[in-house]
Amino acid sequence: MPTWPLPECPDHRIPGPGDAGSFWEDRGDRRHCGVDLHAPAGSRVLAIVQGTVLRIGIQTDPHRVPYWNRTFYVLVKDQHGHIIRYAELGELSVGEGDHLEEGQCIGRVGAVIDPSRIDEGAPAYIRRLGAEGTCCMLHLEIYTAMPGSLDRYLGGNWFGCTPPAFLIDPTGLLRKAGGR
Ligand SMILES: [Zn+2]
Repeated sequence: MPTWPLPECPDHRIPGPGDAGSFWEDRGDRRHCGVDLHAPAGSRVLAIVQGTVLRIGIQTDPHRVPYWNRTFYVLVKDQHGHIIRYAELGELSVGEGDHLEEGQCIGRVGAVIDPSRIDEGAPAYIRRLGAEGTCCMLHLEIYTAMPGSLDRYLGGNWFGCTPPAFLIDPTGLLRKAGGR
């Protein structure tokens, strides 16, 4: 059985259709590529299933968007060839090429947004997150194969109504891991 990725968040809540942070949420000019699992900054993020770390990199950076903090992503290939993107992490504890056991700690949740730098020009969903003070989360995406061009991808969102190739809803896997 897959492992719930946030052991310090026992409610195991998955945002459903229409909820903020749900899969393919319509954010006006962009769509959400994954699900957001809110957790305090510093919470451990565990590998849901075993796999291999393909790549790590920067997910968000204030040099790109002013209200962002710097966070990181970890791209993991599982034994079925699915690609899992664990994103908006503040700290990483794995490196490229590492083999991950299920349940192994990948890193820690970061604070993706700095509320003090949100202004009227920010998208409505960002202003709402800032107002609610819910700026820390694990952003999780799953692809059935290595994604191709992510030219319309920015910070976990996709600019376009047709999803990027191979993107799927992570809810099924998260339910198997005990999510509700
Ligand atoms: Zn997200």
